[in-house]
Amino acid sequence: MQDVIVVGAGPAGLCTALALAERGVPNTLIAAPHRPAGDKPDTRTAALFNPSIQLLRNIGVWNAVVEHCAPLAAIRLIDDTAAIFRAPELTFHASEIAEAVFGFNVPQVRLLAALNAKAQDAAAVRIVESAGVRDFSIGEDLVTLHLAEGDSLDARLVIAADGRNSLARRAAGISVKESPCNQTAVACAFWHQRDHQSVSTEFHRRAGPMTVVPMPGRASSLVWVERPETAARLGAMDDKEFARNLQRNLQGLLGEIAQVGPRVLFPLSHMTAAAMGRNRIALIGEAAHAMPPIGAQGLNLSLRDAAVVAEIAGEALQAGNDPGSPFCLGAYQDARLPDAKERSFAVGSLNAALISGLIPVQLARGAGLHLINAVPPLRRRLMHLGLAPRGPLPPLMRRETL
Ligand SMILES: Cc1cc2nc3c(=O)[nH]c(=O)nc-3n(C[C@H](O)[C@H](O)[C@H](O)COP(=O)(O)OP(=O)(O)OC[C@H]3O[C@@H](n4cnc5c(N)ncnc54)[C@H](O)[C@@H]3O)c2cc1C
Repeated sequence: MQDVIVVGAGPAGLCTALALAERGVPNTLIAAPHRPAGDKPDTRTAALFNPSIQLLRNIGVWNAVVEHCAPLAAIRLIDDTAAIFRAPELTFHASEIAEAVFGFNVPQVRLLAALNAKAQDAAAVRIVESAGVRDFSIGEDLVTLHLAEGDSLDARLVIAADGRNSLARRAAGISVKESPCNQTAVACAFWHQRDHQSVSTEFHRRAGPMTVVPMPGRASSLVWVERPETAARLGAMDDKEFARNLQRNLQGLLGEIAQVGPRVLFPLSHMTAAAMGRNRIALIGEAAHAMPPIGAQGLNLSLRDAAVVAEIAGEALQAGNDPGSPFCLGAYQDARLPDAKERSFAVGSLNAALISGLIPVQLARGAGLHLINAVPPLRRRLMHLGLAPRGPLPPLMRRETL
């Protein structure tokens, strides 16, 4: 029997396996083929904030990806909703909170490659390649995982990183709260005439946000959220027509669009699990929470799950305790559920306020943004909260852990 098995080798699962190793917890990672974009390469980047970057440093993968990443020195919000009461343009500078940068924009494909390479080398991570876990049998003292190949494995703690349709979550008996989200994101890289000056820009539009995030050189990554039919049309356009559309919607921000990379469509969902763990199964990443890409919250939240679950399992094993006990799962839930619920609520509210045609909602949104713009302590508070929740960060996300 193993102490800890991680299920799912997406970014959340791989980071957890390496965080556990860093905390002295040998673990097994069940790695099914990772195809977030189906047959296409994943064109997404992730804007990762400083605590997440620190985690990547502390688990030893940052040096392998840094050359492909671009720093994020400022974040600009532009109201493009055509609402009667238009919000002001807001730009948050990392220097306002005494940081050089908010974080870095990291290509997901590069991140996955670096995490995989590190996990292959880590003596404390045993990788089991499999077509996936097909079933879980939950006992009092252990969980048995039945693999597609017919083998089975036992563990005291299962960390479920098996994505938004998590089988482990269902086996644990954890329900989810879902909000309708009739939106699809078009994600691609593009090259442009003007320098982005390390500023990420989020256009708030009625169909959803359109965000351009710096990449090295005169390049940016695009996440353009639209109604599914419009997204399908954008996906089907030839490169020239798409570039023309993009340039028009960016309103000259980055000058002429010189080239666009392959586009991939990601249907969005918004969901939060009712609990972060039960029956010896702890949920992390999108197994626990999925949300539209507003304010770059998704993977940052997942990496906090990873750092905390590794800490709790490490402490339990060091003290000779059972890492899958109700006590440990309770501690994990207390540490992580408020953050997950708050982020989910904030992202959901902002998304709903964007797409709402109701004038009172538009007024409230505009007034809120005016207030944030005008009150520096409020701006700084929001910037701190955007990067990380209140309270101390888990040790693996702190600078002094190095
Ligand atoms: C367009 C877009 C832009 C985004 N931008 C940002 C951003 O800028 N910043 C940010 O922080 N976040 C961002 N996100 C969110 C981020 O991409 C996701 O949170 C993250 O990719 C989810 O990772 P995950 O490991 O939890 O899940 P997944 O990537 O879905 O991985 C789940 C893994 O589990 C495996 N699996 C599934 N079932 C089984 C099974 N039964 N047995 C074994 N394995 C299984 C799958 O094969 C897969 O490898 C964005 C999301 C989108 C859609």
